[in-house]
Amino acid sequence: MPAVAFLNGEYVPLAEAKVGIMTHALHYGTAAFEGIRGNWNATDGKMYIFKLREHYERMAQGCKLLWITLPYSVEKLCAITVEVLERSGFQQDVYIRPMAYKAEEKVANLNLKALKDGFFCLAVPFGSYIESDGAISCCVASWRRIDDTMVPPRFKLSGLYLNSILAKTDALADGFDEAIMLNQDGHVCEGTGENIFLVYGDTLVTPTLESNVLPGITRATVIRLAREELGLRVEERLVDRSELYVAEEVFLSGTAAHIQGVGKVDHRLVGDGKIGPVTGKLQTAYFDIVHGNNPAYRSQSTVATPRVAAS
Ligand code: PMP
Repeated sequence: MPAVAFLNGEYVPLAEAKVGIMTHALHYGTAAFEGIRGNWNATDGKMYIFKLREHYERMAQGCKLLWITLPYSVEKLCAITVEVLERSGFQQDVYIRPMAYKAEEKVANLNLKALKDGFFCLAVPFGSYIESDGAISCCVASWRRIDDTMVPPRFKLSGLYLNSILAKTDALADGFDEAIMLNQDGHVCEGTGENIFLVYGDTLVTPTLESNVLPGITRATVIRLAREELGLRVEERLVDRSELYVAEEVFLSGTAAHIQGVGKVDHRLVGDGKIGPVTGKLQTAYFDIVHGNNPAYRSQSTVATPRVAAS
């Protein structure tokens, strides 16, 4: 069965879900979106979607900023997402992309309030976000993370991602796996699609939300896991660039990237360059949770059961 998308009120084959070339969001990035994973659990034949509600709550905040009226409640958006997965019949890990966007087919109009809105939700099969069989190598990007006084980085707004895309593209061209961005005042901010953590002994350190980071759903989960399951201390504070070179461990966190160990920053080894023990424990705990294998956390996932096998 072909994959199904939800587009402006209807379930349609993904291949037929199209928007016109005059769509405002295509010209100006006027959209709020989410990146959500459906984690396939082959043992019980179910798809687990971790913290689905929280993703839509964040998207709703972005919509508020862009004067987009979401046509559905958060509950209904969650139900639509489950329906897309069940109708598509995926039996593998997927990436789910809902987007609320300025759908008006009118160019040269910069008044958000004058433009009609659209919404879609689609899902595609998805494996690893960063291809690597161990710790990755990062550079500090020459592009600074955009500031809240420019375009607020606390929401997932389409146009904002040009900032991440420039940094990521340059990092890959220079032979690194990922870029770490500094903010306007030169403190460590985050990866291009992940939050960042440093490990010192029994303490995790991560930049504050006011450092212009995206308030990551995985970041919040890592903080809770570290405190409650691993008995670690967590400090949210300003982080200097030079700390990246001397921390015992560095890792990135994000829905797409999960928990990704960093083995090198700007060619310098982090620890011994391998996945560190704290990162390893968090990776295992997190992976179990998002695949529905930890009963204590299962209620935080929405479950979809595919109706038919995807073709
Ligand atoms: N920062 C940026 C810039 C991101 O795009 C993402 C991915 N959404 C994250 C951090 C991690 O956020 P989350 O854990 O909610 O996926």
